[in-house]
Amino acid sequence: MPDIFIIGGGLSGLSAALECQRLGLSCRLIEVKPRLGGSLATEILDGWKLDHGPFAFKEEADWHFLSEWGLDTDLYSLYPNKRPGGRVAFRSGTQALIDALSRSLTIPVIHRMAVSSIGEIDGHYTLCLENGLMWEAAGVIVAAPARFAERMFRTLVPELSRSFFDYAYDTITRLALGFRKTDLPEPGRAAWDMSFPSYDYTDHPDRVPPDHWLLQIGVRYPLHQTSPDQIMSVLRRDFKWQAEPLIQRMSYWPEADPIPPHHASFPGQMEVLMGLLPARIALAGSDYAGTDLASRMESGRAAARKVASGL
Ligand SMILES: Cc1cc2nc3c(=O)[nH]c(=O)nc-3n(C[C@H](O)[C@H](O)[C@H](O)COP(=O)(O)OP(=O)(O)OC[C@H]3O[C@@H](n4cnc5c(N)ncnc54)[C@H](O)[C@@H]3O)c2cc1C
Repeated sequence: MPDIFIIGGGLSGLSAALECQRLGLSCRLIEVKPRLGGSLATEILDGWKLDHGPFAFKEEADWHFLSEWGLDTDLYSLYPNKRPGGRVAFRSGTQALIDALSRSLTIPVIHRMAVSSIGEIDGHYTLCLENGLMWEAAGVIVAAPARFAERMFRTLVPELSRSFFDYAYDTITRLALGFRKTDLPEPGRAAWDMSFPSYDYTDHPDRVPPDHWLLQIGVRYPLHQTSPDQIMSVLRRDFKWQAEPLIQRMSYWPEADPIPPHHASFPGQMEVLMGLLPARIALAGSDYAGTDLASRMESGRAAARKVASGL
């Protein structure tokens, strides 16, 4: 019997892989990049933990799953009693979640290989890779974003593929900036331009050297309409810093936030689309599930259970 393949090694793909492993299924994970984690990435540098993707999350989300991964004490409140609408972050960086899941993974992980299409021959699925290889699969879990899944499903489920073709995303430039406290006034609630929808900051000793601030900002100007220098000059003006940041990282995500999951009609549409999939093929991840980390992890586990029940 060939293996089950999980395509994509972000949070959702890892959750699917661990559930397949728990169910005793023979499976493999394919991740096109050299590292696991997808959009969750933390850089550790001289006492700083800088997040390139998400940094802060809504406190009221479902965080029960953290205890299973030994991370229940890793989450901390960013602004106790200071700002309404609680926000939390990870002491070890958001990638701690990926590292915890990866440590439990025992199945083979194949890096630097991209799946381009999924086919079916004589009741078996086939995966075509961009380097020309073709593998047989007992089942497939696609845990890659819809913009990539669109191509994978073109022959096998054309209707699904067509519906992913118009999938829209918001662009985000993420900045992680490190300052001496004396150089950056503690940010207040400014009247924000809609292009700068989010900022969070911390001086937690696990994330920042003593007497420093880490400022994490999300900017929505597409880089083709502006430049890194222009972004920095607007931020310099709005945050009123007195000296340039000691640490500066800018990560550009041209397709960061999927927009359809925020529409009220999305769950119904997704149910119809999921119904088009054959029994041993499933989808998991941010483009097909709810908008918090727990939902994405559950979508991975549900995909594994679906494929297992179709074997
Ligand atoms: C800048 C930014 C800010 C965010 N902020 C928040 C937030 O505040 N709150 C929140 O809940 N979520 C946030 N998110 C979303 C969150 O990070 C993701 O939903 C979560 O990490 C789960 O991702 P995923 O595994 O579904 O997809 P991804 O992390 O996108 O992983 C998909 C993986 O599939 C791989 N892949 C793609 N194509 C192929 C292929 N053909 N073959 C093999 N591998 C392939 C990719 O390399 C990637 O590793 C943010 C995302 C970004 C980018």
